[in-house]
Amino acid sequence: MNQKPRPKRAYVETYGCQMNISDGELMQGILADHGYEIVGAPEDADVVLVNTCAIREHAERRVLGRVSQLNGLKRERPDMVIGVTGCMAQRLGKTLLEQAPYVDLVMGPDGYRGLPEALERLERERSGGGSEHGTPRAAGVAPGGTISVIERSRGRGPQLAVLDLNMDENYQGLERRRADGPSAWVPIQRGCDHRCTYCIVPYVRGGEKNRSAVEVLSEVRRLAEQGVTEVTLLGQTVNSYVWEGVSFPGLLRDVARIDGIRRVRFTSPHPNDVTPDLVEVMAEEDAVCEQLHLPAQAGNNRTLKRMLRRYTVESLLEKVDLVRSAIPDVALSTDIIVAFPGETDDEFRDTLDLMRTVRFDEAFTYKYSLREGTPATRLPESDFVDADVAQARLAELIEVSRDIQSEINHSEIGRVEEVLIEHTGRDEGQVRGRTRRSKVVVFDGDPARIGEYADARLDRTTGVTFIGTEVGAAESVAAG
Ligand code: SAM
Ligand code: SF4
Repeated sequence: MNQKPRPKRAYVETYGCQMNISDGELMQGILADHGYEIVGAPEDADVVLVNTCAIREHAERRVLGRVSQLNGLKRERPDMVIGVTGCMAQRLGKTLLEQAPYVDLVMGPDGYRGLPEALERLERERSGGGSEHGTPRAAGVAPGGTISVIERSRGRGPQLAVLDLNMDENYQGLERRRADGPSAWVPIQRGCDHRCTYCIVPYVRGGEKNRSAVEVLSEVRRLAEQGVTEVTLLGQTVNSYVWEGVSFPGLLRDVARIDGIRRVRFTSPHPNDVTPDLVEVMAEEDAVCEQLHLPAQAGNNRTLKRMLRRYTVESLLEKVDLVRSAIPDVALSTDIIVAFPGETDDEFRDTLDLMRTVRFDEAFTYKYSLREGTPATRLPESDFVDADVAQARLAELIEVSRDIQSEINHSEIGRVEEVLIEHTGRDEGQVRGRTRRSKVVVFDGDPARIGEYADARLDRTTGVTFIGTEVGAAESVAAG
């Protein structure tokens, strides 16, 4: 009797931002649609894809370490395919194939539609021989763009590179494969039209491409029917979204009104597109959470100008006032880069002042990382901040922002907040979730309740996380 061949098994490991997590879900969806079984560990997979980030050098070093570790598995199973996808694959391209000769495929963020064809092509090339060792040969165009085939030495078969950027690729019409749960990421935009001088994103993800509002809304409706109650709209400058006359505030309002959706968030907005219209929708629509990420990057006008952020400290503070006057209880978070080339100590102190003025609920803090190909690399060498000074600035910034976060969180003890239970807690019998303002709360509860909403009193805080107690409906009304 003929046995059916077992389906090929694929494992996708994702590093980096929410957009990358969402791209990982997209790749899993595309592969599952082409008959692959998606597995949870590289040991069980025929195809291992490492979906990478290029935003800082540290992120890339981690991936190189991981890929070399995966080569250990490949030595035991030479048929295994290792692919590197995402921003680092796009940035390094064929150099990565030379640096890590055991990698079989590099594919940039606009190539995923052609993933099954590229994997098939790899298999055909492996069984069919090739041309001269070490020489690239063109291989025609697949749905994800041009596939280049590079022969490896020592009979190890070819490597493939799919690196075209494609202004039309929005992944329209493709299904993501999401983990079960109450929350979902929904990309509404890819790429970025800004050129912040430190940032690699526009070079590895191309210009801004917005998804059709019709498709976004039908995806959210489908998610709601499947039981999702919280969605986060994603884009590099998510609030610059516009599609055939539908602006971001309009889309946000429509998403917030979909039956079954109780919470809507969005990230990352650009401060310049935090407009009165957007703030009005945030304030009026019950489902839009009282939370805003406002990436400041620096608190000094000369630095902001050299970063090409296109706003000043004063205009940023106006945005903060606009949001806080409409939504007094809003939780604000930010991103800050220290030691941008040319940043003086006084200018760094201005950033600390900004933190003390705004009092962000949370800050994501980074040391400037030089990204080859970005405009900041052309600044005079003498501008580059000494590594020890950069480290000291980062440490001071973290201390200031943690202190502020802790003070704010201590002042919130005693409040009763609605928590969406998302995970089990670290200790047995505990669950963990987030409030509407995106604060993490841990309390005693049954893990079977993941996906449910509960009211919890915030009893204590570590400074970052809250430890709470679930309260009945009556108590929450009294406290509210
Ligand atoms: N589009 C978002 C925005 O404009 O805020 C940012 C996206 S980026 C994935 C996330 C954060 O990484 C940025 O806000 C910035 O703080 C940080 N970042 C980007 N490039 C960096 C670099 N070269 N060095 C250090 N941090 C960087
Ligand atoms: Fe990078 Fe600036 Fe675009 Fe954000 S807005 S992705 S920081 S270029």
